[in-house]
Amino acid sequence: MKNTKVSIGLRMMDRYTSCGVARVFSVTALAFWIITSAVWADTAPKTQLQIEIDTRTGSFTATAVLEDPIGVIALPEAEWLTIDGLSFQGMDIPTADVSSAVIDAAFHQNRDLRMTVSGDFPKPDGNFASSASSTDATYSIGPVWFPVDATAIRDHHVTVIVPEPQQIAGTGRLMRVSREDGFEEVRLAFTGSSDDFGLFVGPYVTETSERAGVPLHTYFYEADAELSERYFDASGTFISRFEAEIGAYPYDEFSVVATPMPVGLGFAGLTYVSRDILSHRYMTGRSLAHEILHSWWGNAVGVTYESGNWSEGLTTFQADYGLAEDQGPDAARDMRVGWIRALAQLSDDQREPLSAFRSSTHNGSQVEGYGKAAMVFHMLRDELGTAAFQGGIRGFYATNRGAIAAWADLQTAFETAAGKDLAWFFDQWINEAGMPNLQLQAGDVTRGEDGTYQAALKLTQTAPAYRLSVPVVIETVDGPIKQHMNVSGLSHEAVITLPTEPISVQLDPDFDLVRHPLAGELAPTLRSIKGQTLVAFATSPSGGEGAIAAALEPILSGASVTWQDELDIAYDGPKLVVGSADELADLRPDALGPMPENVGQSATSLWIERDQMGQLWLFLTFDTVESLSEDLRLLRFYTGQSFVHASNGSVSLSGVWPDGNANLQVPFDPVD
Ligand SMILES: [Zn+2]
Repeated sequence: MKNTKVSIGLRMMDRYTSCGVARVFSVTALAFWIITSAVWADTAPKTQLQIEIDTRTGSFTATAVLEDPIGVIALPEAEWLTIDGLSFQGMDIPTADVSSAVIDAAFHQNRDLRMTVSGDFPKPDGNFASSASSTDATYSIGPVWFPVDATAIRDHHVTVIVPEPQQIAGTGRLMRVSREDGFEEVRLAFTGSSDDFGLFVGPYVTETSERAGVPLHTYFYEADAELSERYFDASGTFISRFEAEIGAYPYDEFSVVATPMPVGLGFAGLTYVSRDILSHRYMTGRSLAHEILHSWWGNAVGVTYESGNWSEGLTTFQADYGLAEDQGPDAARDMRVGWIRALAQLSDDQREPLSAFRSSTHNGSQVEGYGKAAMVFHMLRDELGTAAFQGGIRGFYATNRGAIAAWADLQTAFETAAGKDLAWFFDQWINEAGMPNLQLQAGDVTRGEDGTYQAALKLTQTAPAYRLSVPVVIETVDGPIKQHMNVSGLSHEAVITLPTEPISVQLDPDFDLVRHPLAGELAPTLRSIKGQTLVAFATSPSGGEGAIAAALEPILSGASVTWQDELDIAYDGPKLVVGSADELADLRPDALGPMPENVGQSATSLWIERDQMGQLWLFLTFDTVESLSEDLRLLRFYTGQSFVHASNGSVSLSGVWPDGNANLQVPFDPVD
């Protein structure tokens, strides 16, 4: 994920409109300080920052100069922060004149604002906040201690001083100035939104290398120092890959910075990663690729959050999904199925248009903002062809680098590259919530005089109708033939000419479309019974029903359960069967096939199956009522699984059954 944030416009509304914070203005301002170094290449209004942090205590003093402000100035208002002085071009502003945390343009009249602040960074409390300090790690993300205005992109000239042996990393270009008298001083040059500024300090071992022409740095704790080479190699590979796909890497350097916090965040030219997962192989795979790609998407090209955050979807598509495609079509299909499965599990009131997605604040929005949005890019590439799609990506970057962009800018770039109107595509996938519901029927097959076969197909969808190019795979006596049906209305009939005799047809078997899965298309998961009416049967009626219902509450969640004295196999709905492993083996219908593996090897096993009539069967076996509630205490995290095995209070095995959508082939009527 990228750092969660909102644009300056939203920030003002969300965070700066009220001011209940008492402000203390003192006359003991720090000496005014100006960066005179010639290294800065000025292209945007400057924000000059100087900060000294005592990482042993978190206490700091800072000076900020906001040059040429426009619009409303928002002052930082963290409760641990004291504003010690405030002046406009040398004219001190008395406390009484600044009664809120915003200063109107009419008041500041574009005069440079200088501000001195001090305080103690908060201690980390386990939740990731925008700033925290401990001897292990000190960080500050966004304008938590300095002012911002309505300027989208600023040149931040930053000087940071910390005691040794602390090392400083940050967004932008970094130069060490000096290390003397027990202090480390660096300068940072960062061009971008103040929201994206990040400063990271810790007792790091730093390593430096170069790959793909880009200087690379690692800031790891001593125990992980030997991981640097692996990170350098992977970083170089991904930077080269994305440069070829998109355009030049947008920053001067790239750094990987470790943290004790449980995060993985992408910044301009930097990623901030939990040290606990640094050594995992997936970190130097998809995770690192994803965070590196955020240097292009979300940082070099910023996001207009008000009209929807496109950067997570595009980053997921090009990094996570791109690497899955490298592994082969099966891995890519698995990822698409995973997204469709997660999308299908959202309730209608959880579905929002992608234009409403801001960040992954809750699971539902992540499913859409990452998964659905990545699928939209997959469909767009299918629509345009790879060459036009890649042209659109490169054009989008070239046009919007150093600026803030919206879905509409992506639309423009792809329309330019493809030379066609895409308003319909972006309207239905970005501005509308939901996804299509499709059904395919196979009709008559006739044989022409030339020996070809004409197969009738009928595709229907529920309202609202989507405009789609629907893949259909026709199984023939000589193997499968893939076709596309272009539809835009609620019903579409077609006759497809085939060189060989068709047997059956399947709708979108590779899940290339965002759509509701067909009934029975995806394997059931534990939450498939949500809200339904179950009948239940337990082999030993010992009054454990209440405990069972309580343990299963995360998946029942509103389902009503009727306990019966014997198993009602004829019941036309989901069934819950509770007993020992051997009893369940006897009770389950033969048509479900063999018992799942691993049942009986742990104290508690819970799984769901679907029979050939489409009915769901939930099976549960456990030792004692006490061990049941202990083993399933974390069930709420496993509701997306088909099976869970647990012992001694922890889950030993869980997963989703393979999908059986080969059963969804629709047979043609035989040739007359
Ligand atoms: Zn991300």
